[in-house]
Amino acid sequence: MPALHEQLIPVFEEVVNRNPGETEFHQAVREVFESLGPVVAKHPEYAQSSVIGRLCEPERQIIFRVPWVDDAGQVQLNRGFRVEFNSALGPYKGGLRFHPSVYLGIVKFLGFEQIFKNSLTGMPIGGGKGGSDFDPKGKSDAEVMRFCQSFMTELYRHIGEHTDVPAGDTGVGAREIGYLFGQYKRITNRYESGVLTGKGLTWGGSQVRTEATGYGTVFFVHEMLHAAGESIEGRRVVISGSGNVAIYAAEKVRELGGTVIAVSDSGGYVVEEGGIDLELVKDIKLSRRARIEKYAQERGNGARYVTGGSIWEVPCDVALPCATQNELTASDAATLIRNGCKVVAEGANMPSTPDAARAFQEAGLLFAPGKAANAGGVATSALEMQQNASRDSWNFAYTEERLRIIMRGIHDRCLTTADEYGSPGNYVAGANIGGFTRVADAMLAFGVV
Ligand code: GLU
Repeated sequence: MPALHEQLIPVFEEVVNRNPGETEFHQAVREVFESLGPVVAKHPEYAQSSVIGRLCEPERQIIFRVPWVDDAGQVQLNRGFRVEFNSALGPYKGGLRFHPSVYLGIVKFLGFEQIFKNSLTGMPIGGGKGGSDFDPKGKSDAEVMRFCQSFMTELYRHIGEHTDVPAGDTGVGAREIGYLFGQYKRITNRYESGVLTGKGLTWGGSQVRTEATGYGTVFFVHEMLHAAGESIEGRRVVISGSGNVAIYAAEKVRELGGTVIAVSDSGGYVVEEGGIDLELVKDIKLSRRARIEKYAQERGNGARYVTGGSIWEVPCDVALPCATQNELTASDAATLIRNGCKVVAEGANMPSTPDAARAFQEAGLLFAPGKAANAGGVATSALEMQQNASRDSWNFAYTEERLRIIMRGIHDRCLTTADEYGSPGNYVAGANIGGFTRVADAMLAFGVV
């Protein structure tokens, strides 16, 4: 592990002591701190005002009981979270994750990442995150609806278009946002469109929001390759996951002339050398909500399914981890590098372990951290908020162009910042420092609050 700047050591120790057992949160903080040495050296005002320590303490943390009744009439119990991390740049903004692994440490790591990511987009949004340990897998629509209604019955009092604007994340898509928005509207008697993003297109949603995280990741890859005088055309691409991010990343890769040869889910991965049939993946994962194993069964000879194992064993030019945190380990990174992979861009939040991320940078790959590469989702949420605020709705082409420009802006900001702070070409340093300074300067302007 690289050493931290001496002024950051006590701040990091304080974070660990204050948040015992929250390993993912510690990891996310450490990764940012490893980039901040040159910033602390250049700007003593950040240390003097304890702005970094304050940034690591959420402004507000809400934990609540979520009781609901299942289809058999049994009472079920889950825990709900909303961590309102930082509102220096705008209302708290970030998704809700419904997954059995969710606990306070996961929500805090995601909320912390979100502050920097949202800042990098250049848009007026603060950072927050929430969710529940509820597992949507195997639940009926009616059960998901009752859970969402119960969740919102508590959450509604904490959110609002100028206060906190949740959206989706793992396990929360258009169906869940619909149930959540319906309950919010009923309880408050307000058609407050800007209180949630990721809404359906007929009731205040934005074109491109569904596709935005995946498209944005590939736009970012396009920018990185373009800056290196290359392109995606003809590249073999491996994408982990087969949810919303992975599917639309695959769609954009195909549009730009690359070939996606493998995708996965938590059970295993499928490989098809001639290119994955995206329509079949969409049908299996989005419509039928079934396992990716079905893909190989229904496709026949051309495709093979590997139970368990690591998708990163499949040789490729471009790797897009789009599944979940810490899914790509140091040994996966070594395999990718050995097999000649040239580009890694994180569609998920913190999918590479710290060792893996370091290995990519040391090997000189083009490596884009999630804060930069997956910011297209939340950026398009901010575009949805703009449309809601002006009671307008934009067409697909215009919205996609806005997303493309935002991703180019993030890319350029990463490179300029990395240059300015002595790490030319390092997107990790650029993203962490670029995201940090904008928030920190706003916090300094506000005084000690
Ligand atoms: N959950 C997404 C993310 O990780 C999007 C959040 C949003 O749209 O608010 O950035």
